[in-house]
Amino acid sequence: MVQIAELYSSLQGEGRLAGTPSVFVRTSGCNLRCTWCDTPFTSWKPTGTNRTVGDLVEEILSHRLKHVVITGGEPLLASDINVLCNILQHEGQHITIETAATVIPDKGLPTANLMSLSPKLRSSTPNSETGWEQRHEKRRRRDDIIQLLRATPNQIKFVIDSPSDLDEAVSWLADLDIQPQSREARHVYLMPQGVTQSRLQKEALWLDSACKNLGFQLCQRHHITWFGNTRGT
Ligand code: SF4
Repeated sequence: MVQIAELYSSLQGEGRLAGTPSVFVRTSGCNLRCTWCDTPFTSWKPTGTNRTVGDLVEEILSHRLKHVVITGGEPLLASDINVLCNILQHEGQHITIETAATVIPDKGLPTANLMSLSPKLRSSTPNSETGWEQRHEKRRRRDDIIQLLRATPNQIKFVIDSPSDLDEAVSWLADLDIQPQSREARHVYLMPQGVTQSRLQKEALWLDSACKNLGFQLCQRHHITWFGNTRGT
């Protein structure tokens, strides 16, 4: 069984497959509590329905699209994710897994065509009043897991809210042996924090020049431009 918060088809809004028609499978449940989480219904107040893998596969295939994006929450917490990915691969689906890269399933790495890694910076940590500060801070950075997940074709996406976030991301990437302007740097995406078009446009201005200097990609949140900050898009 997998707890699912939502399942819908739309266009991928972020990263190297932006614009690709895809089925989105959003699992519920997360081991982190980002202060700015844009899907709190999968983390702070998780909701969803337990679905069997067979039932999920049937619904995914009924959309008749080639791409499926398994996202969350934290999809690598879902106990049946390996089975789900194996069946989807057998069915010829292109699988993207979107993860914060802090956990590995008990059954090992699931099969995917693209691992979209989104490590969480210090600024994601909630304050102590939430009761999550220490747990989040302790869990959010797992370089060992990032390196394991990088065995699959991947992209690394950082949510950037300030120049100090950018400094932290560059330093973190150096620890992962990813240097600015290198070949690997082309798979690094900097995404402005925000859920309104005006804020994203403002932040994209300075991030765009940072990306040019560092050899990274600016990660637009196209789905917010296309559909607004709306569930199921
Ligand atoms: S890792 Fe993702 S789902 Fe979990 S709290 Fe952070 S933004 Fe929300």
